[in-house]
Amino acid sequence: MLGEGILKGLKETARNALGSFVSEERLTTVEYPEQRIPLPEASRNFPFLVYDGTDWESGLRCVACQICEKECPPKCIYIDKSKDKKPDAVGKQQFYPARFDIDISVCMSCQICVEVCPFEAIKMDTEFELSTDDRFGELLLDRKELAKSNEYYHQVHPTEATEVDDRLARERAAAEAKAKAAAAAAAAKAAAPAGATTAAAAAAKPAAPAVGTPAAKPATAVPANTSAVPASEIPAGETAKNPTGTPTKAATAPPAEQNAVPHAEAPRAPKFDAAKPDAAKPDAAKPDAAKPDVLKAETRKEGDAS
Ligand code: SF4
Ligand code: SF4
Repeated sequence: MLGEGILKGLKETARNALGSFVSEERLTTVEYPEQRIPLPEASRNFPFLVYDGTDWESGLRCVACQICEKECPPKCIYIDKSKDKKPDAVGKQQFYPARFDIDISVCMSCQICVEVCPFEAIKMDTEFELSTDDRFGELLLDRKELAKSNEYYHQVHPTEATEVDDRLARERAAAEAKAKAAAAAAAAKAAAPAGATTAAAAAAKPAAPAVGTPAAKPATAVPANTSAVPASEIPAGETAKNPTGTPTKAATAPPAEQNAVPHAEAPRAPKFDAAKPDAAKPDAAKPDAAKPDVLKAETRKEGDAS
């Protein structure tokens, strides 16, 4: 029937208008601000910071990770991370926000900061009576103004706050159990016999390569010593020395059969002239132990490097 919807609407309006004189349930308006309608649990306005315990400063859950600051679309969160750490509500050393400001004149109540926070540290408030004539003085809230207790969180969002508390309790219990297991494992390891530990470590360690094995050294391991005095200029009976007084390789190089480094095949090895005085030639009678340690060390190092 034409106009049936209009008649139904008028009937409902008349029922509420007349019924409000006899039943408060029929009242659809209240005398705000003296009277207020309870806000739905899902309502939200601007963010606040949750703290545990009674001291807002030490109980803040925020660890200044700055994820919310990065994710906030209008960039109205300003955080300065602390240089030091202090214990949080459960005694764990954490960074904290030395500064945490939110410009609520810019905030668009999108709740993204709440969604991205890994520490359940920031939640949406239901407070909406924030009008002021001081745009910059009153609408830039600092961390003290933003801090509200976990009890307050339970008042404004009871279901959500209970779920968060349960989850945090489970996570803390799991972390404590893990720490206890790690401590028990460390104690058991410390109590194990030292010999068994050493033997196990030795078995696990790969065999060290043979050090100083002459046959393993390449032919190019001994470069020409540019500072050496030419053998031809050394008088017979003297030992060739470089400017620092250290015997040169040319003067002290042992014969090929005593030193497996094949000097004869080395492209840059010092050459000896059979016609020159014997003092510059290697002394075949000298034992290996007579070789200068410097030469041994250099030869080993160069061989390892190649
Ligand atoms: S509710 Fe949205 S706009 Fe407001 S501070 Fe959080 S992320 Fe930024
Ligand atoms: S409120 Fe949460 S996301 Fe933002 S800095 Fe603190 S811990 Fe990080």
